[in-house]
Amino acid sequence: MKIYVETYGCQMNVSDSGKLVRLFRERGWSQTAEPGRADLIVINTCSVREKPELKLFSALGRYIPLKKRRPGLVVAVGGCVAQQWGEKLQERAPGLDIVFGTHQLDRLPELVEAVCREHRPLAETDFKRAPGGLEVAAGPGADGISAMVTIMQGCDNFCSYCIVPYVRGREYSRPSAGIIAEIEELVAAGVKEVMLLGQNVNSYGLKTPGELSFPVLLRRVAAIPGLRRIRFTTSHPKDLSDELIAAFAELDNLCPALHLPLQAGSDAVLERMGRGYTAASYLEKVEKLRRARPGIALTTDIIVGFPGESEADFGETLRLLEEVRYDQIFSFKYSVRPGTRAAAFPDGVPEEEKKERLSRCHHLQDRITAEILAAEVGRRREVLVTGPSRRGGGEWSGRTPENRIVNFPARDLEPAPGDLLSVRITEALKHSLRGKLLMGMEADAV
Ligand code: SF4
Repeated sequence: MKIYVETYGCQMNVSDSGKLVRLFRERGWSQTAEPGRADLIVINTCSVREKPELKLFSALGRYIPLKKRRPGLVVAVGGCVAQQWGEKLQERAPGLDIVFGTHQLDRLPELVEAVCREHRPLAETDFKRAPGGLEVAAGPGADGISAMVTIMQGCDNFCSYCIVPYVRGREYSRPSAGIIAEIEELVAAGVKEVMLLGQNVNSYGLKTPGELSFPVLLRRVAAIPGLRRIRFTTSHPKDLSDELIAAFAELDNLCPALHLPLQAGSDAVLERMGRGYTAASYLEKVEKLRRARPGIALTTDIIVGFPGESEADFGETLRLLEEVRYDQIFSFKYSVRPGTRAAAFPDGVPEEEKKERLSRCHHLQDRITAEILAAEVGRRREVLVTGPSRRGGGEWSGRTPENRIVNFPARDLEPAPGDLLSVRITEALKHSLRGKLLMGMEADAV
């Protein structure tokens, strides 16, 4: 039996899809990349950005008709859109067998069996106190040396534009013992780098009496022998504590890279977004981070055209981009998510204006990214090899601790994924670096 999974959206969804595949593999299934050969098609959806339903219905329009050619094929939709729509999805898309919500991931095998037995559609979208599936390990990623580990799910912040608390539920921290045991198993299986995942990892454990705080969890994870690199996402700036910042100074295997969503540079906009920080307090944390770990690479999310955002407000966002100098930004035009507070806000920004602001953001960031990458030329970096380069030509690819991609020819060496090599950066491209492998004494100082 074969499962095909299509994933939209964030890293959390990518990790959830890995968990689904694992659950079915344990039952003797295999994964296929061809929907036409699958016995089960799962679409794992995201509703953070605009019109995710369009993408979903277009996929369902392709997959549900396959049932005529493949009797017994089961089509299922999970993730945030499934949570939001529930059985209404099946009214809109007759032939859709299963709708499973964000807390029901671990029940999909059981739901597939029930659909095959009972020949009727099923929709399960109840929230549980502990989301189902949190304890399912996704295992190593495709490169075999990195892995995502979910440590918490849900969010209590209710930023005014965001649908996540409604579709992922309230914040729940997974017990630390299970997290540590999962990472130990991953490292024993050859994993060198883990990404700790959650909607707001900084507040991990705070609402669970007796649980570790996030900085303490990080220290425990960092002490696991053989684990070379630790990353985490997503961090809420308001919950970035001094103790967590200190961990960047203290823990060598905590990578000098942090995604710290800014969203907007204007205090008035931040206030309407309900973000709980000001531009000044955000900048203060950036400064502390850079003191704790000089050279730390920062990335961020930006929303342009939030209701009421004036040209002057937007100018503040550009000012912060200049001041912080992120490695990369993920910027989007604001789009209404029905059911959120901001959906009722007046003073929407015209679409043309949003487009123009977005393009100014990209333009500015392209320059900053180019400058940051250009400054890398000549430096020696430790690169964790992820595999052959996608550019081909016998080159290899890897990432620096700052999460910058480096491609390099292997010279006489035959690298393997997971190797940590010393590379001299020789060229900066638009989104990546090229380098020269250092060997022998040249490499020693890494
Ligand atoms: S912190 Fe805000 S933006 Fe992030 S998931 Fe929670 S509500 Fe959404």
